[in-house]
Amino acid sequence: METDNTMVYPIAIVGGGLAGLCAAIHLQKAGKQVILFEKKHYPFHRVCGEYVSNETKSYLTKIGLNLENLDIQKISKFQFTAPSGKSLDYPLDLGGFGLSRYTLDNELYKIALNCGVHCKTGTEVEDIIYQENQFKIRLSHSNQIIYAKYVLGAFGKRAKLDQYLQRPFLQARSPYVGVKYHIRYQYPKDLISLHNFENGYCGISAIEDEKFCLCYLTSRENLRKYKNVSEMERNILWKNPHLKKIFLEAEFLYDKPEVINEISFSPKKQIENHIIMIGDTAGLITPLCGNGMAMAIHSAKLISEIILENFDNREAVEAQYQKAWKNYFGFRLWAGRQIQSLFGHPILTELVRYFFKICRPALGIFIQSTHGNEF
Ligand SMILES: Cc1cc2nc3c(=O)[nH]c(=O)nc-3n(C[C@H](O)[C@H](O)[C@H](O)COP(=O)(O)OP(=O)(O)OC[C@H]3O[C@@H](n4cnc5c(N)ncnc54)[C@H](O)[C@@H]3O)c2cc1C
Repeated sequence: METDNTMVYPIAIVGGGLAGLCAAIHLQKAGKQVILFEKKHYPFHRVCGEYVSNETKSYLTKIGLNLENLDIQKISKFQFTAPSGKSLDYPLDLGGFGLSRYTLDNELYKIALNCGVHCKTGTEVEDIIYQENQFKIRLSHSNQIIYAKYVLGAFGKRAKLDQYLQRPFLQARSPYVGVKYHIRYQYPKDLISLHNFENGYCGISAIEDEKFCLCYLTSRENLRKYKNVSEMERNILWKNPHLKKIFLEAEFLYDKPEVINEISFSPKKQIENHIIMIGDTAGLITPLCGNGMAMAIHSAKLISEIILENFDNREAVEAQYQKAWKNYFGFRLWAGRQIQSLFGHPILTELVRYFFKICRPALGIFIQSTHGNEF
């Protein structure tokens, strides 16, 4: 059924980050017509540390991403520094690769277009209403109505739609701010460092084109105290000598950093009013674990397989996804929240570093508990 202002799709996906794009490609390639809404236009930068766990490699290849053709950086070593600058090095079992979201998301977008996904970029979904076993989707600044049998919510950490859907996690405090730069710097390309400072931590790792991603998470309180990002960096981040050196010596490639605030790590529901949430919309792992992207991509794979197997049975789709999500990600998210609570206080972070230094297997267990296997 299609009229001038009305369209009907088997699957609509709201949000074109990694979760939305991967699910769109998977479902479209399996024969289901997908419409995907993304409020921005590709390519664009996002706040993200841009270290992608190797868990994702075989699935990304399967859906058509040729990683060999992209200038990805292989990362196999981990360095942790306390605010004092004392460090601890550790080899990464599975490891990962560095690639900017600017490139990664844009490459996936091109695959989505090529395989026939109807990509509506620059299009913001305003509301989603479930009635009579289908969804009615309204867009901002348009009188077009889209109907879909399934809607996947892939709109990220926090969006206007969360308020519209009155999602309970919004009631919990979300005092975190994320800041990202691309820089040029002399630094080992196979290393991801996590430099800690008071009330935050900063990751640095290589991406394409001889660049590095420098991305940190801190508290809103830190920013409030120093009024602006650069003052906060000088007064807080620079106390860690590794960060001071980077800030003084690196070439910063943006006029101003990418910044996001109100980041919440509170538990979320995976299904709200029959909308099936994937990626950060279903739950965001603390960035110090370094694998939110892998979880977003994995959740896209899980829901795609479940929908394809049970397309005519909404109840089964919802129940199976809920179960699979808890099974794969429930513990990781919980572990990430517990571990994050150990960081931020300089003395506690120093003790954590010392503990991991004398008890190295514990660091291996920590890394494993927040990562999954290849999927
Ligand atoms: C500081 C920080 C550092 C991080 N570092 C890493 C790291 O190094 N490695 C890692 O694996 N993970 C990292 N993460 C986590 C990672 O960035 C996320 O888990 C990942 O981006 C989730 O992808 P997504 O597709 O769920 O959401 P997103 O990538 O956020 O995509 C959501 C999309 O939805 C769109 N959208 C929102 N509302 C609407 C609407 N109403 N209509 C249409 N479109 C809409 C947005 O424009 C956006 O493009 C980090 C996170 C933070 C905060």
